[in-house]
Amino acid sequence: MQIAKKTVARIEYKLTDDSGEVIDTSEGQEPLAYLHGSGNILPGLESELEGKTSGDAFKVRITAADGYGERDEGLVQDVPKDQLPEGAELQLGMQFQAQSEHGFHILTVVGIGDATVKMDANHPLAGVALNFEVEVVEVRDATSEELEHGHVHGPGGEEH
Ligand code: ZN
Repeated sequence: MQIAKKTVARIEYKLTDDSGEVIDTSEGQEPLAYLHGSGNILPGLESELEGKTSGDAFKVRITAADGYGERDEGLVQDVPKDQLPEGAELQLGMQFQAQSEHGFHILTVVGIGDATVKMDANHPLAGVALNFEVEVVEVRDATSEELEHGHVHGPGGEEH
């Protein structure tokens, strides 16, 4: 059976950056299950998976622009410390979740001053090319309930 719209695929994957550092992997956990054609995974990865079948393995490099976008230095801003959650013990690299009119963002602390904190609102993977190594483990038809919900149920998917 081939991966197409309305199928569920389970994949093993390893994601590395261009220096070979592992960013994410399914190794040691359940293979990732996703509903094809529903935007559950990155579009560049989803289009590579189209037509593949169980046992197929491939590599694909997704540029930053097709992944989480290029970095925008305008998203690095100084935030007054008194706007931060009370009692937060600040450390470089720590992350906050913030909500704006564009949805949820992850803010990463990249500098700590006396009265302000430098916050980077770029996605942590912005500006990073994504190298995926993928092996298709299983392809099956999606259930009508999965199609209704727009995601996979069961192992590797939503537990509810
Ligand atoms: Zn559901």
